[in-house]
Amino acid sequence: MTSGMQTAFYVVAAILFILALGGLSNPETARRGNAYGITGMALALIATIFMGDQVHGGGYTWLAAAMIIGSGIGLFLAIKVQMTEMPELVAMLHSFVGMAAVLVGFAGYFGPAEDPAHALTGAASIIHEIEIYIGVLIGAITFTGSVVAFGKLKGIITSKPLMLPARHWLNLGLGLASIFLATIFVGGEHSNAAITALVIMTLIAFVFGVHMVMAIGGADMPVVVSMLNSYSGWAAAATGFMLNNGLLIVTGALVGSSGAILSYIMCRAMNRKFLAVIAGGFGTAGGTVAPSGDGEQQEYSPETSADETAEMLNNAKEVVIVPGYGMAVAQAQHTINDISRKLRAKDINVRFAIHPVAGRMPGHMNVLLAEAKVPYDIVLEMDEINEDLPKVDVVLVIGANDIVNPSALDDPNSPIAGMPVLEVWNASSVVVMKRGRGVGYAGVDNPLFFRDNTRMLYGDAKASVDAILGNI
Ligand code: NDP
Repeated sequence: MTSGMQTAFYVVAAILFILALGGLSNPETARRGNAYGITGMALALIATIFMGDQVHGGGYTWLAAAMIIGSGIGLFLAIKVQMTEMPELVAMLHSFVGMAAVLVGFAGYFGPAEDPAHALTGAASIIHEIEIYIGVLIGAITFTGSVVAFGKLKGIITSKPLMLPARHWLNLGLGLASIFLATIFVGGEHSNAAITALVIMTLIAFVFGVHMVMAIGGADMPVVVSMLNSYSGWAAAATGFMLNNGLLIVTGALVGSSGAILSYIMCRAMNRKFLAVIAGGFGTAGGTVAPSGDGEQQEYSPETSADETAEMLNNAKEVVIVPGYGMAVAQAQHTINDISRKLRAKDINVRFAIHPVAGRMPGHMNVLLAEAKVPYDIVLEMDEINEDLPKVDVVLVIGANDIVNPSALDDPNSPIAGMPVLEVWNASSVVVMKRGRGVGYAGVDNPLFFRDNTRMLYGDAKASVDAILGNI
């Protein structure tokens, strides 16, 4: 087939990717969005493999072997990975995109000499070298940054920000060195100096990726996840330029810009400036409990039982359920939906309140509630529900911690000061379900657990909600 046919397939695939992004912006259309994305990717693969001059002869054997191994690993991971491990998986996948850009860059530079009839000369050669340089730079930062993010999300690396002395100077130095090395590499025509410049820049970019994400504290991790998503898109777009593949450029740009928009939304949700996030240091562990003022106690709030909680719910008129990371760990969403259905059947107004950074990935709670078939119209965003909370009789906090921490608003010294939170303490009573006295992801103590209108229901969230359901 002709490459004209390939272009036509690429255009259709690009349109499907745009429709996929549109579909994914709303839980009701997300499934359709996924179907568009899968179809687009299948068309893109078919067009790339069979319709152009990218693969020929023995290349098919290598490609088939790589695809069988890659799909096997992908399938295995998709089946095995728990929903709570999804962010780590995504971080790992971003690192692959980064590494691919580095490898494609090096392969493009050191690969076999091109057919002299099509060899690049003059300005075209310079542009190609710039593409390689930028592609390798973004790819290397994305690779190590994503590996560190994987470690932080998995808990292998501490979520505390690494605050090296003069770290901004270090970053500036690395940036200036990369620009200087670019002047040696571009136009260097495969000289030893050009090759050395490329290798040193790659090492610098690896170090920069590590340092950038290490400096970012636990509370800013949601922004890091979406930021690396964006970087992986730009790395893919750079790979597209290096390979002269229009679809890869378009797809990379879509991922890059949608990741950038998501980073902006996450920053706004956390009341943070993007540059301040990159500068690092937010969410330094520690924090104070220091209960003070009216209505707070020096000791943990009293314990309650599933029976008592069920009775409180039965007697309520307005109930709000706040799911957090612990609900995802416990996989309690289905039982929670059953509880909400039973209560609504008794004419009790039950609503769900979602904080933008609840869980461990953007939209984590929305996905879980959609999976449990909670109706979308009773799932509200933080901004929509906060002002109603003083009128609510009972708030059930299920495995959430940082997103309901009053110190974010009350304590200017809190590591998460300034982050908007769900103001659940304004309700008449709050029942907090958690296993023990563990802190949340940001590693900060939570004065909510000391308030006099809070009751603690200890235990695995699934066991607790099962017991409550039995008593409603
Ligand atoms: P948190 O991480 O603040 O708190 C979760 C709480 O759940 C813990 O205090 C834990 O307490 C409890 N818990 C854990 N397992 C169970 C279980 N099986 N049953 C009952 N309780 C359990 O979660 P939040 O959702 O409140 O906040 C999200 C945090 O994650 C924020 O700091 C956010 O910045 C960060 N983050 C978010 C990302 C995103 O994109 N959404 C990405 C990366 C980080 P105990 O151990 O006592 O049970």
